[in-house]
Amino acid sequence: MDKIIMKTPLVEMDGDEMTRILWAWIKEELIIPYVDLKTVYFDLGLQKREETKDAVTVEAAAAALEYGVSVKCATITPNAARVKEYDLSTMWKSPNGTIRAIMDGTVFRTPIIVSNIRPVVRNWNKPITIARHAYGDVYKNAEMRIDGPGKVELVFTDAGGESRSITVHEFEGPGVVQGMHNTDSSIESFARSCFTCALDMKQDLWFSSKDTISKTYDHRFKDIFARIYEDEYREAFGKAGITYFYTLIDDAVARVMKSEGGFIWACKNYDGDVMSDMISSAFGSLAMMTSVLISPDGKYEYEAAHGTVQRHYYRHLAGESTSTNSVATIFAWTGALRKRGELDQIPELAAFADRLEKAVTDTIESGTMTKDLAMITTDEHPDVVDSLGFIRAVRAKLDQEA
Ligand code: NAP
Ligand code: MG
Repeated sequence: MDKIIMKTPLVEMDGDEMTRILWAWIKEELIIPYVDLKTVYFDLGLQKREETKDAVTVEAAAAALEYGVSVKCATITPNAARVKEYDLSTMWKSPNGTIRAIMDGTVFRTPIIVSNIRPVVRNWNKPITIARHAYGDVYKNAEMRIDGPGKVELVFTDAGGESRSITVHEFEGPGVVQGMHNTDSSIESFARSCFTCALDMKQDLWFSSKDTISKTYDHRFKDIFARIYEDEYREAFGKAGITYFYTLIDDAVARVMKSEGGFIWACKNYDGDVMSDMISSAFGSLAMMTSVLISPDGKYEYEAAHGTVQRHYYRHLAGESTSTNSVATIFAWTGALRKRGELDQIPELAAFADRLEKAVTDTIESGTMTKDLAMITTDEHPDVVDSLGFIRAVRAKLDQEA
């Protein structure tokens, strides 16, 4: 069979530990035999980040913007233990944080559904995608302990030196206080990323906040979403047959629970942090969750939602067998290949991505799976395979159905 020819290369960001091992196997077994793979390669492995003083991460993010579609392997975010383990000159920042800051995007997370792993919420038949605003609010706050009686004020001093203030609270005894912010430009980027993603996935977009209580702060989010929708997206949504609707977060939670899924739920930073963990655990596993960063002008970075699976890596290094789930990493590749196929008008490439995803879900649905899934499947006697065994089973399925 002839390999599928690509036009524009993908930006490929390699990573660390067990996911780096899976990365190479996925390319070798599931991509290169079928696609004449073109990539611009960046090694974001921790050793390379140390060698380049993290310049490689910035270069990779710049390439992601230039080429438009990238695929990223999980990477180590250094902490004190990693500084020692890798003899680092400094505690390098999270590559995901660096890339997100440069691409100015929103993170969308969607569960991968198979028939033999049932969500805890029985009526969820279709995936629910969480779009999490990744800037500001409680994640960039200023907070203070109050020791005793006194007044806390919020003061704004403009560039000309004029100031205005409001009272936060008159304390009669000890307590705590917190200041948070967000910017119109970040909220606008968030809104555009969400509307773009909804059109892309042809799914309804929900947005929720607490504007009845937070009449200035949360209300600003609601107003910006409404304005951008009216000015830039209403017509396209109409044509695509999808809707945008805003509701209070408590109403949204109740509706989500009763829904059958199949929509995108845009959340403020904290709500998205909490809700994405709820959604992923209710659907089964972090290893069955795709993640894509979409910039407001439509640049895409695909990755798995989980980390580098360190414990499995050390077992692998010790020569022991591992049963690490590669599904989310395979779907990062298919997401990127499909998007490249769409943008470059190569229907065979998009169709290949569909076929590979189907081979993955068919493999699991026929009972062959890694250990993490074997523990939660409804199958009574799943065939538990090792890391490479699963990838090879997917390849056999792909060839069988070709
Ligand atoms: P993790 O790599 O997600 O793994 C945590 C545990 O979850 C694993 O030990 C394993 O449980 C299970 N697990 C996760 N993914 C799995 C998979 N694909 N197949 C089977 N089991 C899976 O998180 P972590 O151990 O907290 O973090 C390890 C490193 O990843 C850290 O250095 C962190 O900085 C980095 N990280 C990177 C990203 C990213 O690049 N996007 C995200 C998160 C964390 P068992 O051991 O019980 O089998
Ligand atoms: Mg969280």
